[in-house]
Amino acid sequence: MSGNQILILGGGVGGLVASNVLAERLGDRAKVTLVERKDKFQFPPSYPWLMLGMRGPEQVQRDLSVLRRKGIRVANEEIVSIDVGKRSVGTKSGEFSYDYLVVSLGAEYAPHTIPGLLEHAHHIYDLESATRFKDAVEKFRGGTIAIGISRTPFKCPAAPYEVALLLEDYYTKKGLRDKLKFEFFTPEPGPVPAVGPDIGNKVLEVLRSRGINYHPKLRLKEIRQNDLSFEGGETMRFDLLFCVPPHVAPPPVVKAGLTNETGWIPVNPRTMETSHEGVYAVGDVTSIPTPSGYVPFLPKAGVFAHGQAEVAARNIATKITGRGKATTWDGKGSCFLEVGGGQSAFVKGNFLSEPRPEIEFHMPGRVWHAQKVIFEKYWMRHWF
Ligand SMILES: Cc1cc2nc3c(=O)[nH]c(=O)nc-3n(C[C@H](O)[C@H](O)[C@H](O)COP(=O)(O)OP(=O)(O)OC[C@H]3O[C@@H](n4cnc5c(N)ncnc54)[C@H](O)[C@@H]3O)c2cc1C
Repeated sequence: MSGNQILILGGGVGGLVASNVLAERLGDRAKVTLVERKDKFQFPPSYPWLMLGMRGPEQVQRDLSVLRRKGIRVANEEIVSIDVGKRSVGTKSGEFSYDYLVVSLGAEYAPHTIPGLLEHAHHIYDLESATRFKDAVEKFRGGTIAIGISRTPFKCPAAPYEVALLLEDYYTKKGLRDKLKFEFFTPEPGPVPAVGPDIGNKVLEVLRSRGINYHPKLRLKEIRQNDLSFEGGETMRFDLLFCVPPHVAPPPVVKAGLTNETGWIPVNPRTMETSHEGVYAVGDVTSIPTPSGYVPFLPKAGVFAHGQAEVAARNIATKITGRGKATTWDGKGSCFLEVGGGQSAFVKGNFLSEPRPEIEFHMPGRVWHAQKVIFEKYWMRHWF
């Protein structure tokens, strides 16, 4: 099997899809190994529901060991180094060599880079933090809830807006709405800038209709007990704080020299190839310029990681078998924006189309909420 060792780094959205597609297409013609530090796949789009107690932790996770039934070798290990010269990856307990490498290590968080964030802010950007926030939400009885974004880029541009709208709905149902003020802060110029100002204004309308005060262009500087301060000297009081932490590329990727001045891995946006032979990168760990887009880089979202992983995996399979044609990624994606009351808005489009991204926005409705439930079921079952 010389020449056919495929290593997939990270068992999140991109890694799960890539390992499945490769195992299905190549069978025993290749050795497919997935290296992931957690023993479970976790599904972040369900975390807003978990925050409200509508899902338990066990409902949003699946054992990665199940993939072994498909012939995928699952190595439950922490990756510490990547050497593209030697074509090897080091973990805490050993080394793996590869002929093809798919880097799908996602983004890490750097809360320590903003004073006070670790001590005073909640978020739902990992399962443990989402579970802690659920407890804080349950106990909260009144005051100002500040919801915000510390730095860009961050994953799922709609998630913090979803958090604000879902919390507003939750406390309204609990009969506590009169005792609450909602403040939303972000360094962005408007809501979800990746989808353009027209759709951003529709999101703003939804926020305003629910009494959520919106404060754009505020870059968080420091958090003290009950107080936020921003770089321009503005301040904001809070009693409960949700704040998206700063995102950075995982250290092994940076140490390997795979990242550029953006801090993320540059790739061919259609094939996900990096500048190193046989090395592909997909999902949140990449940076893809959008020369005609509303923002300079493609937002970080699972739907993109999914599409990109399929393309990278199919093309590796084609190279190994010599069968089929190389495919390219189309830049398409969609996203739900849960607003509470069993309703969701929906955004869909081509983020790499010229001369502008072609994006549609569907106002909140029950049908989109039902679609999001189906989307969750698909992810919890289809790949296992
Ligand atoms: C609250 C929330 C809601 C979201 N909702 C949506 C949504 O509705 N739709 C959507 O499209 N996207 C959504 N996203 C974004 C989506 O989850 C991510 O964009 C997606 O998971 C990216 O996939 P990935 O494979 O690039 O990275 P990930 O899924 O993050 O996977 C990376 C994996 O690498 C592993 N890893 C990292 N470093 C190491 C190491 N050193 N050693 C071993 N393993 C390592 C991690 O443990 C992780 O499992 C949401 C995200 C959040 C936080």
